[in-house]
Amino acid sequence: MPPFGYVATTASGRILLANDTVLSWLGRSRDEVQGKLRFSDLLTVGGRLLYETHLAPILIAEGCAEEIALDFITEPREVLTTLAYGRQAVDSHSSDVVIRWTIFKATERRNYERELVAVKNLLKTTLSSIGDGVATTDVNGSVVFLNDVAADLSGWDPDLAAGKPIEEVLRLTGEDQGEPIESPARRALRMKAKVGLENHTILVAKDGRQFVIDDSAAPILNENGELFGAVMVFRDVTKRREGERALAAAYRDLEQKAAELRRSNEDLSQFAYAASHDLRSPLNTVTMFSQLLQRNHRDGLGTDGMELVSQIEKATERLGALIQDLLAFSEVSAQEVSRAGKVDAQLAMEIVRNNLRAIIEASGATIDCGPLPVVTVDKTGLVQLFQNLVANSIHYRSAAAPHIQIRAEPEGPFWHFCFRDNGIGIAAEHFERIFQPFKRLHGHDVPGSGIGLSLCRKIVERNGGRIWVESVVGEGSEFHFTLAVPEGAA
Ligand code: ADP
Repeated sequence: MPPFGYVATTASGRILLANDTVLSWLGRSRDEVQGKLRFSDLLTVGGRLLYETHLAPILIAEGCAEEIALDFITEPREVLTTLAYGRQAVDSHSSDVVIRWTIFKATERRNYERELVAVKNLLKTTLSSIGDGVATTDVNGSVVFLNDVAADLSGWDPDLAAGKPIEEVLRLTGEDQGEPIESPARRALRMKAKVGLENHTILVAKDGRQFVIDDSAAPILNENGELFGAVMVFRDVTKRREGERALAAAYRDLEQKAAELRRSNEDLSQFAYAASHDLRSPLNTVTMFSQLLQRNHRDGLGTDGMELVSQIEKATERLGALIQDLLAFSEVSAQEVSRAGKVDAQLAMEIVRNNLRAIIEASGATIDCGPLPVVTVDKTGLVQLFQNLVANSIHYRSAAAPHIQIRAEPEGPFWHFCFRDNGIGIAAEHFERIFQPFKRLHGHDVPGSGIGLSLCRKIVERNGGRIWVESVVGEGSEFHFTLAVPEGAA
C-alpha cells in the first residue's frame, strides 16, 4: 500500500475512487464508499465545514488547494488528522471535471506541533512564575526575554529591553568596590560554559535601586551543539545578605564577649586558687600554735583557756575544709570541656558508693539505683556530681534513714537524671540560691561550705546540660540534671 491516501471525486464531491490506504485508515470498505458517499461524508464536522465553505469554492476557483489540515472521521469514530492536497483535473475518458485528493497522515506531525506549543507555553509560564529572575540573550548577548522578576528587579519593560545588550539591561557591579563586572551571560557566551553561583554581585536597576544578587548563567546550544544564546538566572539576596552581615557582627560581638568572659573567669579562678593556696600556710601556723598551746601550756591556760583553744581548733578545721572546697571549685573552673568523653554513669556510681561507704553505713542509707546510661561528660566531673548529690541527701536527712532513688530517662539528645531523697527538703524560694557558691540553708550543725551544688552546676553546664531542684519541705528533694547522649548512640 502506498504511504498516502488517494481519493477522486466529481466536481460536486461524490466519491469516484478511494485507494486501499485511505480505506484502511478510515476503516471503510470500497463498496460503502465508492459511488455512494460524498467526500465531505468522510470528514469531521469541522472538516466538513472547512470543505463546504472554503475548500470546494477554492478548488473550483483556483484549481488547487495545498497542504490543508483536514480531519477525517474513521470507523469506529476517531479523528484522523491529515494534510491534504486537492487538485482539479479533467478525466481523459469522460472529459468530466474531477477532483483528486492526495492525503498524508498528519497525526504525528500535528501532535508534535501541539506538544511543541504546549512545551513552549509551559516553559513561558514556568519562567514567568519562578521566584528567580531569568533573562535570555541571543548569541550576541542581546536581550531576548526577561521574566517578571527580572523586569521588576532591573526596572526594565521586557519589550523595551529586547534587543538591548544584556549589560545595559542588567547592570552589575562588584559588591565591595562597585566596579562594573562582566555579565555572567556574556561570560557564558564567551566560554561556552556555565558560570557563576553565589557570588554576591550588585544589580543596579534602571532607577538606581541596588540589589545584592546571586547569579549564574549558562550557554544555550542548539541540537547541533552550536551556540544559540545564553540564559542568566539570578535572585535578590539583599535581605539574606543583610541578615548574614548582622549575624556575623553579632557573632563577632559574642566571640569578643566570650573571650572577655573567659579571661575574667580565668583571672578569677587563678585568684581563687592563689588565695586558697596562700591561706593554707597561715592556717597551718594557727593550727600548729594552737596544738602547741594545748600540749605545752595546758596548766597555764586552765579549763576556760583550753576551751577557747579548742574553739580555735574547730574554727581552723572549718576554715581548712572551706579552703579545700574553694580549691576544688577553682580547679573545676579551670578544667576544660575538651576532657569530656563517653563515661559509663553506672561505673561512676560504683566509685561514689565506694568513696561514701563510711557515711552510707553510718547513716543506714539505702540507695536504689536504676540502670544508668553512658553519657558525654568528663569522668572526674561525673563522680564529683554524683558524690555531692548523694552526700547531700545523707547530710540533709530527716529523722528517717536516708532513702535515695536514682533514675535516668532518655529525653531527646539528653539523658535526664533524677536523684530523689526523703530528706528535710528545701523551700521553693531557695531553689536557685542553693546553686550559688557559698550559699547554705542549714547552719553549722551539718559540716559544709556551700560549694557542692555550685560545683555540680558548673560540671553539668560545662557539659551542655542543666540542673535544677524540685522539693517540698519535710518531704524530700529531687535534683534533676541532663547530660548529653554520646554522638552515634541511639
Ligand atoms: P553544702 O552541702 O556544703 O552546704 P551545697 O552547695 O552542696 O553545699 O548545698 C547548698 C545548700 O543546699 C546546703 O547547705 C543545704 O542547705 C541545701 N541542700 C543541698 N542538698 C540538699 C538536700 N538533698 N536536701 C536538703 N537541702 C539540701
